[in-house]
Amino acid sequence: TEYNNKQRTLTAWERSRTRENIEYGKRTSLPIKAQRETLPVFKLRRQLIEAVRENQFLVIIGETGSGKTTQITQYLDEEGFGRNGLIGCTQPRRVAAVSVAKRVAEEMGCRVGEDVGYTIRFEDETSPQTRIKYMTDGMLQREALMDPEMKSYSVILLDEAHERTVATDVLFALLKKAALRRPDLRVIVTSATLDAEKFSSYFLQCPIVKIPGKTFPVEVLYSQTPQMDYIESALDTVMEIHINEGRGDILVFLTGQEEIDTCCEILYERVKTLGDTIQRLLILPVYSALPSEVQSKIFEPTPEGCRKVIFATNIAETSITIDGIYFVIDPGFAKINIYNPRIGMEQLIVSPISQAQANQRKGRAGRTGEGKCYRLYTESAFRHEMMPNTVPEIQRQNLAHTILMLKAMGINDLLHFEFMDAPPRASMTSALEDLYNLQALDDEGRLTKAGRLMSLFPMEPALSKALIESSHKGCSDEISTIISMLSVQNVFYRPKDKQHEADSKKARFHHPYGDHLTLLNVYNRWREDNYSKSFCVNNYLHERHLRRAKEVKTQLNNIFNKLKLPMCSCGGEPNLIRRTLVSGFFKNAAKRDSEAGYKTVTDGTSVSVHPSSALFGKGYDYVIYHSLVLTSKEYMSHVTSIEPHWLVESAPHFYKVVGAESESRKRAKIAPLYNKFSQSQDSWRLSSMRQTKEK
Ligand code: ADP
Ligand code: MG
Repeated sequence: TEYNNKQRTLTAWERSRTRENIEYGKRTSLPIKAQRETLPVFKLRRQLIEAVRENQFLVIIGETGSGKTTQITQYLDEEGFGRNGLIGCTQPRRVAAVSVAKRVAEEMGCRVGEDVGYTIRFEDETSPQTRIKYMTDGMLQREALMDPEMKSYSVILLDEAHERTVATDVLFALLKKAALRRPDLRVIVTSATLDAEKFSSYFLQCPIVKIPGKTFPVEVLYSQTPQMDYIESALDTVMEIHINEGRGDILVFLTGQEEIDTCCEILYERVKTLGDTIQRLLILPVYSALPSEVQSKIFEPTPEGCRKVIFATNIAETSITIDGIYFVIDPGFAKINIYNPRIGMEQLIVSPISQAQANQRKGRAGRTGEGKCYRLYTESAFRHEMMPNTVPEIQRQNLAHTILMLKAMGINDLLHFEFMDAPPRASMTSALEDLYNLQALDDEGRLTKAGRLMSLFPMEPALSKALIESSHKGCSDEISTIISMLSVQNVFYRPKDKQHEADSKKARFHHPYGDHLTLLNVYNRWREDNYSKSFCVNNYLHERHLRRAKEVKTQLNNIFNKLKLPMCSCGGEPNLIRRTLVSGFFKNAAKRDSEAGYKTVTDGTSVSVHPSSALFGKGYDYVIYHSLVLTSKEYMSHVTSIEPHWLVESAPHFYKVVGAESESRKRAKIAPLYNKFSQSQDSWRLSSMRQTKEK
């Protein structure tokens, strides 16, 4: 989770956007049936249905916007595939799953949750009536845990397979296995790019159907010199297009919410100075965290005499299609999740995109007519510095959660698991080590009882470990609240013009022991106030994020019930709560250091307490943190003070006390204990990857 230091404020441009949308309302040009029939995939309807009838596996490639996601599921349903089981369709992104389900429900004339539904983490909008189900790939991967043969499905579409998320990659292997056991199951893989051959050969040389796209040529304009500030040059380019070019909307690719909000604000102010001399410019943001009401606005046709500019994350690269784009501005960056083995954590990092992504972005300008793509980098950078293809996530992410699930499915022989592209061995072994340290695996690399329970929670193992532990220690109400609060976006609202007031309101919730207990305070006080809106408003809290936390908590409660784990409160006892947190997060421990502020216990990296933390400026000797955020320095975010001996208590296999014989317990130093299996490390690693039933 990234620490969102800069808070969102309702700025002038946001207010204007709300007004504009009311003014223009919704205008659809064609009735739905006609719209559906103009999509390129419609001409292949019969061919597709036949191919699905005759083949268990099928690869479909087609330009973004050709109708793969919204239409194929409906064709299958119209042909009766929905009668013998669900028609499932996975999406790598949550927003895409929701937005597509809504669109298809609209096309089919039903409500979401009826004939068409969706499931994303902590949210299930399906019913017994549902025949077409959109979901994140992560959710289907979880279902495989309970039902490895996918018995509830008749067809599964792995959509956007070119994104190569970890979950999609794992599903490739799981579905291949399931389909070989179930001759009636159909698996369709769709992709927007040209890696079709690779998919086809993986799925036993299955047929490839290509949807001919109607695309127009796009002229590419490169920067003459490298751009120092891509935000500035993106904004300049928008203005230049708006003033000098003919009709057509603009799509700008940025890396994240903050950047997008900032750009929208700046641009709004700039456009205002132009007055009435020029046609109006509607400014719209698109990113995952946006409420879906706002998001659906981007699909509305641009009013006559206006131009739309959309600032989007790479979600608009393939998962969402917006019509009417003639101009694409591509700074060449995206935020990606990268596992940092040094700190043992995933971080969102802004990195250059690949050539394949750049071409995909360019293509967005050629859907309605001849377009232009402004690349804010040089042609030489494109040719010589960008990688041809994006590296599959499985080769750059922490696999602890994935491996835990595979182990829980009884897949022990990880070396022979049929990955399309196997993850590096080092990342598999480090994931196995993490799981061993969390006691999810035993000395032999076998799943423990705790490990099995942990695999049933849809979250990273450190969190699920703390949850399981809380049920033993009698503080599951508190821990599940804290974890729900950690799973949502920052609840503290800090408008630019009222920072001081917001900070002092926040300080009233501060718990002397740190941020986890502070979050618990906020939630419990809101609960005591009957989850009221006024409580949020008065205390500078984002109501929407708190409501989401409440939903997550309900979901966790359901999982507890299903697993027959007790949900009980310890009455807020701070030591018990902190010790329970340590049982999951002992690896994220830091010790005070006279020079550096803090140093991590595991490898001595210098870290500081984030200024927004309740512990900023406090002098506790030992702390644990939820995550590290790298900005100007490495900051710990969500920090809680702990007693050092809790580390050894929670993780005797991970920490040892050094030089403590003579000293008091409190002064003892804690050090990581790598020896335990470093002697036999390699053989342990291998055996836990290769472990077979006999063992
Ligand atoms: P693909 O999956 O091949 O990229 P889709 O099935 O997502 O294509 O989209 C097909 C068409 O439906 C696109 O032209 C897109 O503009 C339109 N569309 C998709 N979602 C919506 C929506 N929520 N509202 C209006 N139109 C939409
Ligand atoms: Mg699609």
